[in-house]
Amino acid sequence: MAHYPRKDLGDFANYKGRIKVRTVLKKQQILATDECPFGCTASESPTHLALECSCSRLVFQMLGIDVVGVRQIDDLFIHEKTLIAQNKVAACEVVTVAVLWNIWLARNRKVFDDQIISVPMVVRQCSETLKLWCHRLKSKEKLAAQKWLEDWPS
Ligand SMILES: [Zn+2]
Repeated sequence: MAHYPRKDLGDFANYKGRIKVRTVLKKQQILATDECPFGCTASESPTHLALECSCSRLVFQMLGIDVVGVRQIDDLFIHEKTLIAQNKVAACEVVTVAVLWNIWLARNRKVFDDQIISVPMVVRQCSETLKLWCHRLKSKEKLAAQKWLEDWPS
């Protein structure tokens, strides 16, 4: 089943303190600050990083995913299915994971390498990731993923 890094994202989504987001690191006194790595002044909780940060919101928006009103990462998976065109629904999960995964990677580049990955770059990487994962998807999911890719900036 591990076609894509579902487990890592599961940890991210479930947030049991295992992922070293900065709020946790600050509690452990590893970091002096828990500010979001994208430069806004909020604390970097998993929900902030995935849903509340203006950078992440912009990534979702550019990919045609409406996250307005979504409060929890888990809700994102449900919410999206109700809004998306029927021919894209089958790939909602893999698409959402691809986006969260690339937000997470961008965050790590900033935190560990002090490299800022721009929003358009994250968007392009989402596209690349989905193209790559497409090869492993079953036919229905694959067709739906290709519909997503047709509408994404490449
Ligand atoms: Zn932020």
